[in-house]
Amino acid sequence: MELDNRTLLVVVTFSTAVQTAAMFYVWRMQLRERSVGLLTVGFALIAIGTALIAMRPMLPPILTIVTGNSLVIAGQAVCSLAICDFAGRPLSMTFPIWLAAFTAGILTIFTFASPNIGIRVIVLSILIPLSLLPAMLALYSAPPGPTRRTYWPVGIVLTFHCVFAIARSIATAVGGTPADFFASNAITAAWFLESFAAINLVSLGLILMISQRLQLELDRQASYDGLTGALNRRAFERIAEGEWSRAVRHDLPLSVLVLDLDRFKMLNDTHGHDAGDVWLKSFAELCRGLLRREDLLCRYGGEEFIALLPQTPVHAAMQVADRIRRSVEGMRISHNGTDIAVTVSIGVATWNETVTDLKTMIAAADRALYRAKAAGRNRVESSENL
Ligand code: GH3
Ligand code: MG
Ligand code: MG
Repeated sequence: MELDNRTLLVVVTFSTAVQTAAMFYVWRMQLRERSVGLLTVGFALIAIGTALIAMRPMLPPILTIVTGNSLVIAGQAVCSLAICDFAGRPLSMTFPIWLAAFTAGILTIFTFASPNIGIRVIVLSILIPLSLLPAMLALYSAPPGPTRRTYWPVGIVLTFHCVFAIARSIATAVGGTPADFFASNAITAAWFLESFAAINLVSLGLILMISQRLQLELDRQASYDGLTGALNRRAFERIAEGEWSRAVRHDLPLSVLVLDLDRFKMLNDTHGHDAGDVWLKSFAELCRGLLRREDLLCRYGGEEFIALLPQTPVHAAMQVADRIRRSVEGMRISHNGTDIAVTVSIGVATWNETVTDLKTMIAAADRALYRAKAAGRNRVESSENL
């Protein structure tokens, strides 16, 4: 079976144009994120470039060979820029410009001064991996977890595309090229087919990456308090129930702290709501710094927080609570040139046979907190003393 190369290139152009439109749509939907905008530009450049290459020999070589190929390389480099941006590994904006200028220079020499299609193919086969290298590095360095599961497939498709480009260059060096670019040629046909698959798979993979990020962001917003970054009540109750069942099943100690900032209303009234917000944020940060990774911190409401401490008996929980209390006592937050101090009262409860469920345990810690408030605030009280 013989495949017509020009038809194949028209198909590559058409599918790149469709993927450009898809990327533009995603950009509009995704709050016009910069990296998605750059991907749209990159795909558009590749589509225009391949369209120009497909116009050979209707248009002059300066447009089809030099401009067309330079636009494809520039488009790939812009996609690299976008992927690096998306992955949080910024790359210089001048990268695509330098690469496109270099491509145009080399192609001009080997099209007009010393025409040689073989050298042009070899040079392009080296420039393709070069333009995609930053993207591949950014994709492969994704941290383990859900992100890696969407980043790596795109990295693998790009790697395969680069390997194919190099293989094409070797095959060209060994077998030579026909004088007519569009003449029946298995190497070129295979290259166009692979490019067709690569552009569609990369686009699909990128859209999956983008939608996964959105999903993770939505999950985060649904589970965490926007001001303090602590778990919200709903997410806390869901996770804490799991910890409770585990503690009961394996007979493990489990403690809870209910923390309430003292006379916080007065702070708001004296220094303003903004100062109160800064304090709440700093308080959550301080708690996170003093708790372990497996502990849960939740903003239970207003200026009241809950910390759930798995595998922690009462005396250890009391120590943690007192460390938090002392750190808060020593902390000053500067707001509008004034140093503001706050204290915290903490109630501690630990799971035991008399506590039947998580709510009862939190209620016990709440009663201990009430005693801490009644006893003068800036104190830690345990439900065990009740
Ligand atoms: P106590 O020592 O008895 O706990 O006194 P308190 O003033 O801290 O307690 P109260 O329950 O009377 O007031 C809580 C205050 O917390 C009232 C409210 O203005 C403030 N607050 C609740 N949520 C926020 C918030 O998101 N930002 C700010 N700045 N203040 C908040
Ligand atoms: Mg309070
Ligand atoms: Mg309160």
